[in-house]
Amino acid sequence: MAVHPTRQRKAIHQAMMLAPGPLSPNDILSLATQEVPKLGIATVYRTINLLLEAGDIQAVPINANDVRYEPCDRGHHHHFLCRVCNTVYDIKGCAGQIAKMLPADFEMDEHEILIHGTCAECKAVD
Ligand SMILES: [Zn+2]
Ligand SMILES: [Zn+2]
Repeated sequence: MAVHPTRQRKAIHQAMMLAPGPLSPNDILSLATQEVPKLGIATVYRTINLLLEAGDIQAVPINANDVRYEPCDRGHHHHFLCRVCNTVYDIKGCAGQIAKMLPADFEMDEHEILIHGTCAECKAVD
């Protein structure tokens, strides 16, 4: 953690470290509140901005109204969005071959993959 670790910041960072995928500010609030009961959403947003500036976490845009956050040290991976519980899970590995989909003479710098579907937990209660 590149920022001065206060109790609140540690709890917020820890919530993102332990999650199975990127978290929304509200997810972070409800998880970090278990450690720091008086935490408020304004502090969560402030801390997210500090951690972003410090390069500890990065934004994962899911759609125009839904940006989630994850630690920067997870390496190349992709995401799965459950349409039922709205959880985003990290997916290890990569489809590969993506650069081959490009027209001739196009060059890929990076790519993102967001798979939509139903997670195992939600499928079980269907
Ligand atoms: Zn689900
Ligand atoms: Zn990939």
